[in-house]
Amino acid sequence: MLRSAAAAEPGVRLRSGHAGGVLVDAGRVTGLRVDDGTVQADLIVNASGRSSRFADAYRALAVGGPCPIGYVSRHYELHPGAEPGPSHLPVNVVQTRSGYLAAVFRQDHGTFSTVLATPRSDRRFTTLRHAETYELASRAVPGLAEWGDPQFSRPLGPVQVGGGLDNTYRGQLDDDGRVAAPGLVHLGDAVCTTNPTAGRGISLALEQSRQLCDCSASTRTTSPRPRTHSTRGALSRSARGSTTRCTRTRICGAAGPAVMWTSPGRCPRT
Ligand SMILES: Cc1cc2nc3c(=O)[nH]c(=O)nc-3n(C[C@H](O)[C@H](O)[C@H](O)COP(=O)(O)OP(=O)(O)OC[C@H]3O[C@@H](n4cnc5c(N)ncnc54)[C@H](O)[C@@H]3O)c2cc1C
Repeated sequence: MLRSAAAAEPGVRLRSGHAGGVLVDAGRVTGLRVDDGTVQADLIVNASGRSSRFADAYRALAVGGPCPIGYVSRHYELHPGAEPGPSHLPVNVVQTRSGYLAAVFRQDHGTFSTVLATPRSDRRFTTLRHAETYELASRAVPGLAEWGDPQFSRPLGPVQVGGGLDNTYRGQLDDDGRVAAPGLVHLGDAVCTTNPTAGRGISLALEQSRQLCDCSASTRTTSPRPRTHSTRGALSRSARGSTTRCTRTRICGAAGPAVMWTSPGRCPRT
């Protein structure tokens, strides 16, 4: 949906390829290496996610650490004509229960997935990775039980085990606190990842994108002062286990240095 919306914007041309590196001339971004060629650009947005090493050379390492939860999930399909299970949120079911979190995420074409998120340190949950145990446990959790009932749905695959979740923040600046390549901006998970059970990731990424659009149009004459980015606050809350939603994120600097601003709701303008 986002891709379609972007493609419908006037002046947008979508191209796909592997971004191999940033081109810099006279201390400023001039383009991008893509597959075997290059693309000229005066602004590059790095939205390459949590694992990519793209543009690593232009900023300091991430701070933070592992998130103390893991999860198991399974994908299902409703039988033709079967009624969906109970729902109390747009995504369907998210419940924090004693020592674990249970969720149902409804998808398209009658498919959905159920998720049990548990503390990694709690060994009682390790056998959930086995389909039989997962199904037995799911049948015991109100909300999940109705969705996964074999009368109404069937599994589409094995139980999936998820881990490697981090609470990390990686800002725009290099080890010396400078913008290493003006014109290069990092967004989304490339900046911050938080405990996914709070569902912050997409909101953070969208808010950053919105602020980048606002600021790119309004800060060309601003002399940016670097501050701590408020996304970092979301990380702190996530690391503390809080479910508080993140505050607004400000990103400035399409024409000047790519700098993040801290004040929620206040992006310096001139
Ligand atoms: C288990 C789990 C559950 C989650 N649940 C939620 C939730 O309920 N709600 C929520 O809001 N968020 C959730 N999140 C977080 C959410 O998925 C992320 O915050 C969001 O996807 C970040 O978007 P992004 O565009 O920054 O990165 P991504 O979605 O990771 O997209 C990055 C893209 O860049 C591509 N890429 C990488 N390197 C290159 C390269 N060199 N060249 C070209 N392309 C490249 C990748 O292939 C990928 O397609 C969850 C995350 C996890 C792990």
